[in-house]
Amino acid sequence: MSNGLPMPVPAEGLPPRVRIHEVGARDGLQNEKTVVPTEVKAEFIHRLAGAGLTAIEATSFVHPDWVPQLADAESLFPQLADLPTGVDLPVLVPNGRGLDRALELGARRIAVFGSVTESFAKANLNRTVDESLAMFAPVVAKARAAGLQVRGYLSMCFGDPWEGPVPVDRVVTVARRLLDLGCDELSLGDTIGVATPGHVQALLTALDEAGVGTDTLGVHFHDTYGQALSNTLAALQHGVTTVDASAGGLGGCPYAKSATGNLATEDLVWMLEGLGIETGVDLGRLTATSVWMAGQLGRPSPSRTVRALSHQEQ
Ligand code: MG
Repeated sequence: MSNGLPMPVPAEGLPPRVRIHEVGARDGLQNEKTVVPTEVKAEFIHRLAGAGLTAIEATSFVHPDWVPQLADAESLFPQLADLPTGVDLPVLVPNGRGLDRALELGARRIAVFGSVTESFAKANLNRTVDESLAMFAPVVAKARAAGLQVRGYLSMCFGDPWEGPVPVDRVVTVARRLLDLGCDELSLGDTIGVATPGHVQALLTALDEAGVGTDTLGVHFHDTYGQALSNTLAALQHGVTTVDASAGGLGGCPYAKSATGNLATEDLVWMLEGLGIETGVDLGRLTATSVWMAGQLGRPSPSRTVRALSHQEQ
């Protein structure tokens, strides 16, 4: 294992290439207790791009009072202007005001953050699911009219801390409605990490049967119960080719029981490399980035792969 990569041994029925949607700078840092200086965020994103990531969710245009960790979007975005054109920097936009701010800064991709369950819609957006979709409708329409690509997040797709297991039909309904609003891509979020592979397959099959094309879907797993990679493999077997992950496993969900959260990008890349699936990511550079970021945050990365590889280097 001298090169820090697993031996590639392909398996049947998997895609040749996976597009990683990197969420560390947004989903990761918004859930960290520490507020990271803007210059450190800019360096983080440059390093992620340097490691070969091409879809790097950069920040969020929520009201600064809601998420003080990301209150610096206006000063961060110009510091990313020198990134190559092949690097997409999606930003989270909650409402019309957020979209206007994103458009002023030249954002080309946005995401709206919806919930499948009423409890989380209420907790996160202080709205019902219907009210939140009504709030997104003009945002998505205006973004599309401006030529932007729009991702729709669906949170609590498998379980909800207040409501328990989430029926697949509920997810299908909200997914269809987000596509009808004009979203180009959906990200199926297991926000509290309770999904298991059979549930993933059942949801993807139900979405298929409802006419939601697998090519419009990304998956967003959390590793709270150690299931994120198993769930990812189940999704790949179903034909999903977009996977969300967070460098170093940054962030989590404030409503989950454990601090472990987002699937670590390094753990994902290790598995994909082992399967011979192309990602375009340099695992060594990515790991070095997460070790550096862990130093900035003052605590070690929870990623098993980051720990294993950084031990090897010592
Ligand atoms: Mg997440």
